[in-house]
Amino acid sequence: MKSNPELKLVDLPAAPLAARNLIAGEWSNGQAAARPVVSPYTGASIGTIYPASPGDVNRCVEEASKAFASWRAVPIKERTAVLLRLRELLLRDVDALAHSAARESGKLVAEGRAEVLKGIEVLEFAASLQNSDLGGALEVSRGVTCEYRREPLGVTVGITPFNFPTMVPMWMIPISLALGNAFILKPSDKVPFTPVMLGDLIREAGFPNGVFSVLQGGREIVEALAEHPGVSAVGFVGSSAVAKSVYARAGTTGKRALCLGGAKNHLLVVPDADPLVTVEGVVASFTGCAGQRCMAASVLIAVGQVDLLIEKIVEAASKVELGRDMGALIDRAAHNRLVKAIERAQAEGASIRLDGRKAAAPKGHEQGFWLGPTIIDHARPTMECGCVELFGPVLTIVRVNNLDEALRLERESPYGNALSVFTTSGAVAQYVSDNAASGMIGINIGVPVPREPFSFGGTKESKFGTGDITGAGGVELWSQRKKITAKWTVQPDKNWMS
Ligand code: NAD
Repeated sequence: MKSNPELKLVDLPAAPLAARNLIAGEWSNGQAAARPVVSPYTGASIGTIYPASPGDVNRCVEEASKAFASWRAVPIKERTAVLLRLRELLLRDVDALAHSAARESGKLVAEGRAEVLKGIEVLEFAASLQNSDLGGALEVSRGVTCEYRREPLGVTVGITPFNFPTMVPMWMIPISLALGNAFILKPSDKVPFTPVMLGDLIREAGFPNGVFSVLQGGREIVEALAEHPGVSAVGFVGSSAVAKSVYARAGTTGKRALCLGGAKNHLLVVPDADPLVTVEGVVASFTGCAGQRCMAASVLIAVGQVDLLIEKIVEAASKVELGRDMGALIDRAAHNRLVKAIERAQAEGASIRLDGRKAAAPKGHEQGFWLGPTIIDHARPTMECGCVELFGPVLTIVRVNNLDEALRLERESPYGNALSVFTTSGAVAQYVSDNAASGMIGINIGVPVPREPFSFGGTKESKFGTGDITGAGGVELWSQRKKITAKWTVQPDKNWMS
């Protein structure tokens, strides 16, 4: 693999960082106990998180409700003008945001930059709503018109995971705010500092106080928000178990919710696949962000005789250097979990073609959470490495005889985020995209994330709720339709509808 000079680690901060709560436009320490946050690069503390308490949640929702009352009355063209100012600020500070995301999540700076740019793409979609027809009208009977308008919901909440400190919040914030809602972000407590930078930029852009808030913390804050009567809608992105429980909690208190969960993505490689496209696509997919992406390749299904391609994949992955081409795992627990999963695969009879446990940590970062790319071959689909989300740079290879066997494995998976096929045959690509169960399909693309204006979302346990989270799906999620039926004159030729 060619090395990219942009892919490198960042220095740790000169002074400790502080992650506070943004309520009514002011940053404040939460009422819960503060705790240190460590960098995945070194395992050393880089600052402190000051989590909110349930009392802070109440105050935040109350202030957001007040701000919503005025914000909803601002015309959409003025709301999107503020968003476009935010776009300029994000571009101004893209490097600082990229470094911050890298520092706290363990990814490379280039990966941090890419997530800011993807976030800006969602913002651009949201800003374009000022020129979209967000309603409609029709004469439904003589003299009777039906009209619908899209209206905001009220106080909306986004609960986000550790792996994309900028991008996943930005999947939700711009669309919700453009549509006239107030928005409360509850970021992962593992990456609390980049959301603070985001909060500062949102303030600087000119959003009124209380329209955007940040509440730091973990489970207690998530549950308080999901159950709060003042919250109208919840967007969640994280693991399936938590997604399911947040969806249930929000549902029992009558909220709209869309909760995106985990994944076990399959890559199908067939004998006619182009070697260059396949090797680059597979390796980038399972090693990017150290495999900590919900769209990362997890199981390579070798359809028929593709040993030569597998050799090339192993060779390319063996050249991936930690700290240069790949970042770190989020924490010690993730490292231990992955090492144990590799040990269990070995004990169950799979062969370890590439052993990331032996990879050297970058110099001076030996106490960080590093694991090199790992390839487990000749696995059975029922093994843990074949069916459980591992969320790290581990690729499991399962061998099958034909496409139908491959598609059966994908359909039987409890997850349904992404599936990619590597082939030069249009007929194979068509057959796979017609018959796969996943919500996002790639053809010769290892990470098939739909770009705006197309929406992002999987199926099965990768998503609880209807619709998708970005693009047109985001518009549906963060707004409701009001229907107005009107008549202004008495009709001489009345019918049953008049
Ligand atoms: P996580 O589920 O542990 O945390 C997600 C959010 O929920 C965080 O804000 C966290 O503070 C909070 N949380 C954690 N435990 C909780 C609990 N018991 N009750 C209530 N809230 C809780 O996920 P993570 O480890 O931060 O992120 C990795 C997971 O996210 C993976 O499973 C990955 O596949 C998934 N993910 C999915 C998508 C997608 O679009 N489907 C995108 C990114 C990540």
